Amino acid sequence: AGILYVVATPIGNLGDITERARKLLTEVDLIAAEDTRETLKLLRHFGITAKLVAYHDHNEEAMAARLVGDLEAGRSIALVSDAGTPLISDPGYRLVAAARAHGLAVVPIPGVSALICALSASGLPSDRFLFLGFPPRGGKQRRALLESIAHEPGTLGFYESGKRIIATLNDLRDTLGAGRRAVIARELTKRFETFLSGSAGELIERLEADAAQRLGEMVLLVEGHQAAVDLDGRVESERVLGILCDALP
Ligand code: SAM
Repeated sequence: AGILYVVATPIGNLGDITERARKLLTEVDLIAAEDTRETLKLLRHFGITAKLVAYHDHNEEAMAARLVGDLEAGRSIALVSDAGTPLISDPGYRLVAAARAHGLAVVPIPGVSALICALSASGLPSDRFLFLGFPPRGGKQRRALLESIAHEPGTLGFYESGKRIIATLNDLRDTLGAGRRAVIARELTKRFETFLSGSAGELIERLEADAAQRLGEMVLLVEGHQAAVDLDGRVESERVLGILCDALP
């Protein structure tokens, strides 16, 4: 049977492609790509010609079955997403799970992921972290999610768009308290790579004052619970006080 390779690709700087990824993308029988146009740009840059099929959120189930058939027929497949590591807030889970369920070999070709890239240079504790992907778009659901992880001790990691970052920071401040440090890692590995750090309130001020800071792609990291609470629990008491104040007429 063929092998399914899960291949990470750069998140902006094409210099971050690995030698193994380049070699594999040239050699496989088929590349299953989230968006074939995006992947074509990458392949063209490296002078790779390959057979591409679209594998995305909308056809995942049907395509997973078809690709498992291809693997069983002996064809090798590389799974790629538009950028970074497949399956990390990107399609691929169903295909990998189906391949495993059929006893097929799945080989990771590791590389960049925006989350790890951001965490590695953020200055926030990195020994323990919780990745939450994109927060819900609706305010109510977003606040419910944040409340459910208010006591998580590890650093929290989110992917967020520039359109919603201020709303999300507002909800962070309201649900987790004003005291936590947060970091926005924007346009990683690209020309305008920027790290902004501060409390949610300070970050909101920065982003409101400078719209350019809301452009492009960003990872939002937030200090975990214990790290934020000082010895006498002052920050926690501020959080409780905030909730109480909001509840008062
Ligand atoms: N699978 C990808 C990975 O491993 O990083 C993530 C895919 S997800 C659909 C895209 C989100 O990742 C963006 O909205 C942004 O939050 C984050 N991201 C991707 N590239 C980035 C970059 N160069 N700088 C900052 N964040 C990035």
